[in-house]
Amino acid sequence: MQAETIAIGTELTTGAKLDTNSQWLSLELAAVGIPVWYHTTVADTLEANLLVFRQAVERADIVLITGGLGPTLDDLTREALAALLGVELVLDEASLQIIKEMFSRRNRTMPERNSIQAMFPAGTEPIANPRGTAPGIWVEIPRPGKTPCRLAAMPGVPSEMKPMFRDSVLPRLSDLCGSGKVIRSSRVNCFGLGESHADELLGDLTARGRDPEVGITVHEGTITLRIEAQGDSVEECDFKIRQARATARERLGHYVYGDNDEELHDVVLRHLSQQEATLMTAESSTGGLLAMSLSSVEGPGACYRGGWVGTELQLAGQLGLRFVPNLEPVSRVSNLAQHIRQQSNSDYVLVVGDVVMTTTDPSGPPIPKVYVALAGAGAPVTAEIQGLSDPTILKSRSAKTALDLLRQHLATLAVQSE
Ligand code: AMP
Ligand code: MG
Repeated sequence: MQAETIAIGTELTTGAKLDTNSQWLSLELAAVGIPVWYHTTVADTLEANLLVFRQAVERADIVLITGGLGPTLDDLTREALAALLGVELVLDEASLQIIKEMFSRRNRTMPERNSIQAMFPAGTEPIANPRGTAPGIWVEIPRPGKTPCRLAAMPGVPSEMKPMFRDSVLPRLSDLCGSGKVIRSSRVNCFGLGESHADELLGDLTARGRDPEVGITVHEGTITLRIEAQGDSVEECDFKIRQARATARERLGHYVYGDNDEELHDVVLRHLSQQEATLMTAESSTGGLLAMSLSSVEGPGACYRGGWVGTELQLAGQLGLRFVPNLEPVSRVSNLAQHIRQQSNSDYVLVVGDVVMTTTDPSGPPIPKVYVALAGAGAPVTAEIQGLSDPTILKSRSAKTALDLLRQHLATLAVQSE
């Protein structure tokens, strides 16, 4: 038994938008033990839709379609389905009533075109859409010599598709759930070490064929361990994931900062709020990245008291500090951090300096470097970030390195106070 997703939309096949619906649906299906063998993405063309529908119904037991259910002329899913089934489109009065009521609740009259959304291929069933005007379509298609193919067509808009899948489609698949292996995954996030160093420390944990499987990916200096467990039940998978996560934490120590969607700034803000401490920033080469990440989280906003964005020269001018260009860049950033801390009464100050071009090897090209500093109650702590090829990566790594200086400091304090 296996499933297939079909994402419909020319915006997807032209590359203007990415099909995230199939990704989400596949994770949902994996969690209930239904494997997905194919993701198909197809343009808003009747002929192409019909072709991929035919193929999918033939080879997959469950077909989940998203997109093409809107009221406009390029929305062809219902026509393609009718053609596949060899039936006419017929009006469903109940759905038409629901769509009309939805418009009247918003004090609008329903445009005539929207009535198409109440048309269904004869013999199919509407699926309620409490978030939007387009109902979904459910049909079980008989197949000679095989079990019927269960097909659901859902809206493309993710915020409508997701609740429709969970509330109305998944229950229609409940007898198939758990019949295969359940797959669950989880992530462990680390910062401050390279991919091969992480691999070395993890040892046999990343060995191929191990259960659960642990893979390493790197993105702008963040190392993510993806743990994927297979088992007969969710509980079994979660147990295996917990064990693998504990081993990873044991082997990588302070490099591990969080799980799943957690980012460095989330962890920093959580520690600051628990320790009732405040932070200010001054950043040059990161152009506001630190301020943006620290202010993007709702909740413990009072901990982050804002900051400055500008070159070191501008920052020194604004803060009434003499800019000494001959001073070592690392001393400049730590002086700046200490100065701001004294003036602002903030518990912590993070500074990211200018990009400095350095030449260690006279025959090679100059290498860009950025220095960051953290000022707290003790002596300032600094770090150096070396740029490789992409300037945007240098920005992101510099901001993360600054956050990580503070994250490590606050984590040590948190352990000491336990
Ligand atoms: P549709 O249901 O085809 O009218 O799609 C409505 C909107 O939903 C599109 O304009 C996209 O922004 C979004 N959308 C459609 N399909 C997908 C998809 N597979 N992944 C992410 N977004 C999508
Ligand atoms: Mg569309």
